[in-house]
Amino acid sequence: MENVKDDWGMGTLAVHAGAEPDPLTGAIMTPVYMSSTFVQESIGVHKGYEYSRSSNPTRDALERAFAVLEGCDHGLAFSSGLAAIDAVLKTLRPGDEVIAGDDLYGGTRRLFTSLYAEYGVIFHFVDTQDVSAVAGALNDRTKLVWLESPTNPLMRITDIAAVAAVLDGHNALLAVDNTFATPALQRPLELGADIVMHSVTKYLGGHSDVVMGALMTRDAEVDAALRAHQNNSGAVPGPLDCFLVHRGIKTLPLRIKQHCENGMAVAAFLVSHPAVDRVLWPGLPDFENHEVAARQMRDFGGMISFTLHDDTIAAARKVCEGTSVFALAESLGGVESLIEHPALMTHASVPEADRKTLGISNSLIRISCGIEDADDLVADLKRALG
Ligand SMILES: *Cc1c(COP(=O)(O)O)cnc(C)c1O
Repeated sequence: MENVKDDWGMGTLAVHAGAEPDPLTGAIMTPVYMSSTFVQESIGVHKGYEYSRSSNPTRDALERAFAVLEGCDHGLAFSSGLAAIDAVLKTLRPGDEVIAGDDLYGGTRRLFTSLYAEYGVIFHFVDTQDVSAVAGALNDRTKLVWLESPTNPLMRITDIAAVAAVLDGHNALLAVDNTFATPALQRPLELGADIVMHSVTKYLGGHSDVVMGALMTRDAEVDAALRAHQNNSGAVPGPLDCFLVHRGIKTLPLRIKQHCENGMAVAAFLVSHPAVDRVLWPGLPDFENHEVAARQMRDFGGMISFTLHDDTIAAARKVCEGTSVFALAESLGGVESLIEHPALMTHASVPEADRKTLGISNSLIRISCGIEDADDLVADLKRALG
C-alpha cells in the first residue's frame, strides 16, 4: 500500500489506511461516489470503473483500509458479515470437508448447517481450543478450518498459530473470524491464518449504524476467487455505508483502548459480586487459555460473559432488563454498552441440547462494554444485580 509505511503503529495506520486525497479535488476524505455506473470515453475506455457492483471508488478506499488493518494486500467488503462468510463457503464443492469451532456465532453455524450441509459440504464441529481435536478431524478432503477466538459467547481462546501448524502440508485454508478481537488486538494472518473475516457491523464500524462484512487475505489466488464471488453474487455494501465505516476505522485503536479498560474494570467488579458465578473474560489470570490470549492478543477487549448462582432464565431476565446504561440489544462492538441473553436472543438458533453441552446456560449473560466511563458501567450493573 503506497500511502502507509510498514513500520507505522496501529493508531497511525488506522487514520491513514486507504485514505488518498481525492485526485479531482484533493478532498482529504474519499467522497461518497453515489453512482451505479461510470461513463466510458469510448467502448472499453474508462478510468477504471464501469459498474458499482464490480467496484466503486468509495468502496475501493475502504477495501484498501481493510487490507492495511490486517497487514495484507487484499481486502473485500460485503453487505454483511454473513455475506462475507457465504463468499468463503462458495469456494467449496460437495464432498469437501470443513472443520469448524463448536462455539461460533449462531448465524455462522446456521449458515453452515442449514444451507451448505444441504449442498453436500461436510462439517465437523470441534472444540478448537484442543488442537488435537482439529488434527483428529483433518483428512485429505478437508478444505477449510473455520474458527473464532475469542468465541461468541463463551470467550474461548484458540491458539491460532498452533492450528495453523497442524494444517501445514495440507491443502486446507485456515479462516479466522476476528470480529471480537479486531486487528487492533490480534492479527491472525501474522499467526498463520489464510483468511480473516470480520462482521464490520461490530467494532470496525463501531457506531452501531451499519451492517457490513469483510474478508482479508495475503494470497492473491484466494483473493481472486473471493472477489469473483463478491461480484457474481453481488452482496456488496453501498458507498454511503463504506464512507461511514472508513470514518469509523480511524478511531478503532482509540476506541479499543477504552473498550479494554472498561472490560477490565467491569470484569473485576463481576468477579467480586456475590450473585455472579462464573466470569468469562480472557484477561482474568485464571481464565482457561489466558496465557494463549496474552501471547496472541495485545489486550483482552470489552466483551464479557457471566453466569449467576441462580441459574434461571428469570434471574438473567431481571439483570438484562434492569440496566439503564447498558441497552438490551443484540450486536456488540459499538460505542454504547449492550447487554443480552444468548440462549433467548443471539443463540436462539442453536439447538437446546447443543447449548447445554456448550455451556450456554439459562443465566448466561453477554455484555459488550462500550466507551462510556467505567464507573457508570459498574454502577449500572451493580444496580441491576441488586
Ligand atoms: C455479528 C457476527 C457475525 C455476523 O455478521 P453480520 O454482520 O451480522 O452478518 C459473524 N461473526 C461474529 C463473531 C459476529 O459477532
